[in-house]
Amino acid sequence: MAKVHNFSAGPCILPQEVFQEAAAAVINFDNLNLSILEISHRSASFVSVMDEARQLVKDLLGVPEGYSVLFLQGGASTGFLMAPYNLLTQNGKAAYVNTGTWAKKAVKEAKRLGNVDVVGSSEDKNYNYIPKGFEVPADADYLHITSNNTIVGTQFKEFPTVNTSLVCDMSSDIFSREVNVADFDVIYAGAQKNLGPAGATVYIVKDEVFNKSGRDIPEMLNYATHASKDSMFNTPPVYSTYVSMLNMRYMMKNGGVAGMQKKAEERAGLLYDEIDNNPLFEGTAAKEDRSNMNATFVLTDESVKDKFDAMWNAAGISGLKGHRSVGGYRASMYNALPIESVQVLVDVMKKLKG
Ligand SMILES: *Cc1c(COP(=O)(O)O)cnc(C)c1O
Repeated sequence: MAKVHNFSAGPCILPQEVFQEAAAAVINFDNLNLSILEISHRSASFVSVMDEARQLVKDLLGVPEGYSVLFLQGGASTGFLMAPYNLLTQNGKAAYVNTGTWAKKAVKEAKRLGNVDVVGSSEDKNYNYIPKGFEVPADADYLHITSNNTIVGTQFKEFPTVNTSLVCDMSSDIFSREVNVADFDVIYAGAQKNLGPAGATVYIVKDEVFNKSGRDIPEMLNYATHASKDSMFNTPPVYSTYVSMLNMRYMMKNGGVAGMQKKAEERAGLLYDEIDNNPLFEGTAAKEDRSNMNATFVLTDESVKDKFDAMWNAAGISGLKGHRSVGGYRASMYNALPIESVQVLVDVMKKLKG
């Protein structure tokens, strides 16, 4: 089989070693002669997977005491609704930073439940930068941000300091950068961007904010319900949690989050250097806010488009097409992408220039 260089924006590339272990467990999990897909989530073998997955999140990110880690179904899109249900008081207001498609969807869900103040927005420039210097009202119940904007390729390099709960959708850069979890009250992330297969969403929630909204929260949307049952209130996303656990073991063995961050910086540095130095290409995100995970760029000369597309396809590159709302190209460089794959892309770009 020819080597494929997978720049997919999500579901994402995972290490081959993880795929192999994951495949084996579908046939025979934990020497039970049963598939992981056919055993009870209450079995000792699976309970130990869930416990290890939750512990690995804590170990990798240095989660302090007083936080609960959950693996739930519903995707980050359900996380958009859980934040206001759990944190937005009946007559209170929530502050949001609108940095693109996902942030906008989060705003929309919060508006169903109460007042939303969009305190910063980059909508005026097609979201190609991260708003800075915005003011968060003193009485806001929380501030919601999106750490990495998967579609437009921008990333908060520094997180805002606030006097209220900081809630962060970290779907597409969790485990690629060191973060101080104590600065956040809620972190959530769909697994399929940088952690594992689609199906699980990881939540890191400060126990102090449980039921902070004072609302009658539907059980499935209540952080406290899931935390009190060790993430087993209902059937968890068994396989996605398992494969995420394997991938976290892999990260642990390969330098942890600091190691992942170093690799992310190297990959992004290599590609952005070429984008900046090759007259045929132009980055679409403001330089200081560029994402280390998703690099967005366009051709400066559309007449070479067919040639470029044919060249990267021939080089075995997959998933380079930009999101339909932005156009151009997007190279998603998640944790498992080898730097060699980025070098292949850079070589194609150099060759195009001639
Ligand atoms: C993909 C993505 C989402 C949506 O995740 P689902 O799990 O599909 O609901 C939300 N936020 C960000 C930043 C994303 O990249």
